[in-house]
This record gives sequence, C-alpha cells and structure tokens, in this order.
Amino acid sequence: MTNPKIIDGNALAAQMRTLIAERVAEQKASGGPCPGLAVVLVGDDPASQVYVRNKNKRADEVGINSFEHLLPADTSEAALLALVAQLNNDPKIHGILVQLPLPNHINAQKVLESIDPAKDVDGFHPFNVGRLATGGTALVPCTPLGCLLMLKRHFGDLSGQRAIVLGRSNIVGKPMAQLLLRESATVTIAHSRSRDLASECRRADIVVAAVGRPEMVRQDWVKPGAVVIDVGINRVPAAEAGKTRLVGDVAFDEVMPLASAITPVPGGVGPMTIAMLLRNTLEACAHQQGLPFRDLL
Ligand code: NAP
Repeated sequence: MTNPKIIDGNALAAQMRTLIAERVAEQKASGGPCPGLAVVLVGDDPASQVYVRNKNKRADEVGINSFEHLLPADTSEAALLALVAQLNNDPKIHGILVQLPLPNHINAQKVLESIDPAKDVDGFHPFNVGRLATGGTALVPCTPLGCLLMLKRHFGDLSGQRAIVLGRSNIVGKPMAQLLLRESATVTIAHSRSRDLASECRRADIVVAAVGRPEMVRQDWVKPGAVVIDVGINRVPAAEAGKTRLVGDVAFDEVMPLASAITPVPGGVGPMTIAMLLRNTLEACAHQQGLPFRDLL
C-alpha cells in the first residue's frame, strides 16, 4: 500500500499533463493555435541531453509542438543570440527554453535576457523575475511552481503558514520564496551564511530544501507535522561497489515519520518541473493570442 504521507510527484505530474492535453485539444478545436515550444541545447552534456529529450517527448504527448535545436559546443554567443532572435520572431513558437548550463564562452545571462519575456517559459528573464516580485502576471520558474502546486494541493490556503526556503538561487530558492510570499505565507530564506539553520527550520510549517547538499535536513531539524518539499537531486555512492543512487537534500527515512507530508527523491519535485514547463507554454501561448488562461492550481 502506498504511504499517504508521501507526495507522489509522478502521479500529480501525470494528472497535470492530462489536464494540459485537454486544454490544448480544446484550444485547437476552437480554432486557436497549437502551442509551440522551442528547446535549445548547446553542447553534448549527457544529463542536459536527457532533460531536453524528456521535455520534447512530454510536449509531444500533450499536443504541444516541440522544436529541438541542438547546437555544437563551439557555437558562438553571436550565433546563439541570432537563433533566439529568430525564435522570438517566429509566430509558431510560443515558448523558448535555453537549456542551462551553457558553455563557459557564452554569457548565459545575456542569452536569457535576449529571450522575449512573453516567450520566456523558464521565467528567468529579469522582466518576469520583477513581475513575480512586484505582484504582476509573470511566467514563473518551473521547479518552484511545481513545489507550490504540491503545497497548495496539501494545504489549500497557505496564508499565515510559516515557511522556510533553504537556498537562494535564482532558479529555485528566490522564486520559491516569492511564490510563498504571494500566497501570504511568512517566509524565511536561508543560505550558506545563515546561522543556526536547524532551529530556524524547526519553526517552520513548510520546509522547502534546495541546497544541493545530500541529506542535509535531519530529523531534529523538522517540526512534527511539517510539510517537507525536497528539491535536491544529489548523486551519491550506493551500497553496491561502483554504483550510485540519487538522494535529496532531506534525510528522507529520518524525516518521513514525523512530517505530515514529504516529497521523495526521485519521484517528487522532479517530474513536476516538466509538467510546469508545459503549463507555462500553454499560458504563454494563451497570452500571446489574447486567449483566456485557466490555471491548473
Ligand atoms: P545552487 O544554485 O547551487 O544554490 C544552492 C543554494 O543553497 C545557495 O543559495 C547556497 O547558499 C545554499 N547552500 C549551499 N550549501 C548550504 C548549506 N550548507 N547550508 C545552507 N545553505 C546552503 O543550486 P540550485 O540550482 O538552487 O539547486 C538546488 C538543488 O536542487 C540541487 O540539488 C539541484 O540539483 C536541485 N534542482 C532540482 C530541480 C528539479 O527539477 N527537481 C530543479 C533545479 C534544481 P549561497 O547562496 O550562500 O551559496
């Protein structure tokens, strides 16, 4: 029997994809455009290749047109900027994602800032970052949006909940904190210079761990009944010699008995990220076409 405390990211992501597929089909049936997603990969990093392949596969499954642009590792910054400009002007493309990390000779921030904010389905453009911070309509980074969806499923209203976000990256920690604030949670952001993390964490009703430190959050860091969202993906040596396994930023076996809900790694936040990319592509398409967008949350 499945443990009801464990938030099943695979199942929730599958539900989201079904909903998205229905919305895409409705949009096409009523004469609207087919949403188009362009995914750009520079270089041959194997992990990035897997991510890009999965993103395109999932897009195709829900009826979103996906366009893969695989560029060699020695692609110049100018050539990449020219491709982004072309995609910005292509009416078939409603969402653009440039897979990170980019090779060192390319200024990633410059490339991200060259994406049309209306097509910025990763939500990394300063326009969308600013909109999220100031309360306007924004495309929001996919991983924290997936975490928020899980939390809203659990709590409904997050208002007044005490939340701690461990990590302050632009990709996860900061947008996560902004989203929680938008939901009227009381938010603490912690990072590598924070003092007495364990006792900060113990006060929280919601713990979001995004530090990239294997099993850093221990049992005595978590208040009984807290909801724990583990964003971390860390590869560590497995018991069997020469093998590795994935663990999160939370010591799952220790924390699970006292949490009221917890996400596993793998199978928690990870699958939600791609589902939110598809959601963002649908939202971007709707806004560009002046169509209504009904959120999934
Ligand atoms: P990142 O850019 O390396 O940021 C890590 C953050 O954690 C930084 O703010 C850092 O603080 C803080 N930190 C590091 N060590 C710490 C410590 N000992 N105590 C307190 N804070 C500490 O990483 P990221 O991109 O946000 O990713 C975080 C984790 O999430 C990684 O494991 C990554 O693989 C995973 N991730 C998963 C998904 C998914 O889809 N599930 C998506 C993105 C990322 P400073 O700012 O002070 O350095």
